[in-house]
Amino acid sequence: MSAPHSHGTAQPTLPKHEFLAGRIALDFCNSLSPARRVSLHDRMQTPADFAAWARRAGLAIGSAPRPQALARLRRLRAALIAIFHAIADRRAPRQSDLALLNAELSEARAAERLVSAADGYAMEDAAPDAVARLRHRIARDAADLLTGDPRRLKRCPAHDCLWLFHDSSKNLSRRWCAMDDCGTRSKVRRYRARAST
Ligand SMILES: [Zn+2]
Repeated sequence: MSAPHSHGTAQPTLPKHEFLAGRIALDFCNSLSPARRVSLHDRMQTPADFAAWARRAGLAIGSAPRPQALARLRRLRAALIAIFHAIADRRAPRQSDLALLNAELSEARAAERLVSAADGYAMEDAAPDAVARLRHRIARDAADLLTGDPRRLKRCPAHDCLWLFHDSSKNLSRRWCAMDDCGTRSKVRRYRARAST
């Protein structure tokens, strides 16, 4: 089944499982679909795209980022995609990609402040710009994933999907990005293969 082509002003359909990764850093990576099955391959092409993505993620940023801020988000996304696919392939990520993430992390940490909370203190991101705060949050989540169990960083094995996700199951049993999508398609394929023999 191929994705419908969009003509003229027709709105491309958003992928059904856009936020399936279980972690914001991986959902951010998945805004660029590794395979072209989804009709909207890159959902962060324009500043308005990013604002809409953040809204769908439940992390609204108010106004759209400036073009320069979008370019920076796209550089971070490219680095994270390269890093996480390397981990999924059991390869070492490139130093240049890690360096980019480290630079983002330094900025994120520099923005952190202790603020008094109901029962003590909490950490807050004091960056005045909501786009920067969301970028910091993504960088922190990526670092958290990389310092956690690498076996939990997975990629959907469907060749026309390849979305990244975090397996939070107790026995590391999550195989597909979404059971009701790639998992079912694989089951149907296996069933047809058996039925035709
Ligand atoms: Zn999948």
